[in-house]
Amino acid sequence: MVDLLIRNAKVLQLRDEKAQALPDRDIALRGNRIELIAPTGAIDPSRAKKDIDADGQLAMPGFINTHAHVPMALWRGLGEDVNIESWFNDYIWHLEANLVPEDVYWGMQLGLLEMIEAGVTAVADHYWHMDYAARAVEKAGTRALLGQAMFGANGIGQIEETAAFVQRWDGAAGGRIRAILAPHAPYTCDDDFLRASAHKAEQIGSGIHIHAAETREQTQASLARRGQTPIEVLEDCGIFNAPTLLAHAVGATAGDLEILADLRTPVGIAHCPKTYAKLAMGYNNLVEWRALGIAVGLGSDGAVSNNTLDLWEAMRLTALGQKQLTGDAENLTIPQALTIATVESAKVYGQPHDLGDLAAGKLADIILVDLSGTHHFPLNSVTASLVYNARASDVRTVICDGQVIMREREHLTLDKDEIIANIAPRMERLRRRDAAAGIQTYKP
Ligand SMILES: [Zn+2]
Repeated sequence: MVDLLIRNAKVLQLRDEKAQALPDRDIALRGNRIELIAPTGAIDPSRAKKDIDADGQLAMPGFINTHAHVPMALWRGLGEDVNIESWFNDYIWHLEANLVPEDVYWGMQLGLLEMIEAGVTAVADHYWHMDYAARAVEKAGTRALLGQAMFGANGIGQIEETAAFVQRWDGAAGGRIRAILAPHAPYTCDDDFLRASAHKAEQIGSGIHIHAAETREQTQASLARRGQTPIEVLEDCGIFNAPTLLAHAVGATAGDLEILADLRTPVGIAHCPKTYAKLAMGYNNLVEWRALGIAVGLGSDGAVSNNTLDLWEAMRLTALGQKQLTGDAENLTIPQALTIATVESAKVYGQPHDLGDLAAGKLADIILVDLSGTHHFPLNSVTASLVYNARASDVRTVICDGQVIMREREHLTLDKDEIIANIAPRMERLRRRDAAAGIQTYKP
């Protein structure tokens, strides 16, 4: 018996940076894994406890968001048309002073609801009050890698607290939740704090999720202040002895890239192109990075710098941005964009063997995408349509860890009305900006 049979699907397959959609396939799931993908009809439907007729929709791996601050969705639309210093100092760090733990529980559910609707089944989230975020993930049925953010200024004692968070949640919800240490950035954590974080990560066997070299200006400021680039600081402090998820690295120098390329422990970069464009943070040359073998995954970042948590947009902006940046339209091809969105994002997320690919033995995180809309017709190239035409609303059904969590756009785990009803009365307090109450000051 199989637990779930998806019939009549096209299946996205990526092999050796070639992408194709295999027509007329059935996908059999047993428990939380894919058991078999076979031509339609080869698996007897009477052997399945449940079945879904995909009716020609495309099955692909759920998107993996490799860097986000999901509950910030509460503040989308605030902090518009400003540069990064004003974005932090006039908006974010005042708004965040209003946050109470319960806000994170509801803000997380809001962001997870949006991500499920866009086919995102996993997120590496870096935020505050993460016990509340974890409870939201448990409820949503999605996958998450959660880090409790730390600023050095709040004292070394937090490292023990967040290590306890990691030990409390790593492997929870049947393995859907993993946890990680999350010092904020080299510009908000001094060397001693970073060293202590690296030491703790080694001691408890955790990885580290951290922002670094977000802009070229940050790299310049770090060189002036510490005589080292932010990436050199992280290396010197032992951060890279742990598997590391680096957010951004837009300001990485050629020397920094060599450091990253030579590391023995896994390191991946979360690439968040909409934030970079919106806050004019500069742009990374992924063509060079990928040539060095550095893994790059897609990230949304928070919805105050992105406005959505939609990785279709991130994938499209990644392809378009690299063509424009390099002045060469042959760069960042469709198969490469799809590879970054799936296989490489799984690597950056730290589950390269389980996620990012539809094949027997992989975890069953599968989305069904309807390509029958006018904006896809005539469907001359499925893979081009995925990168350049598809919209979040084309995602019809979402399966995570073998469980259907959205069926034909109907949520089966989260309750939109309940989420809205709980957030609405919080917004007046959450929108306040008290100049005296910033939680931090941005200084690159
Ligand atoms: Zn971030």
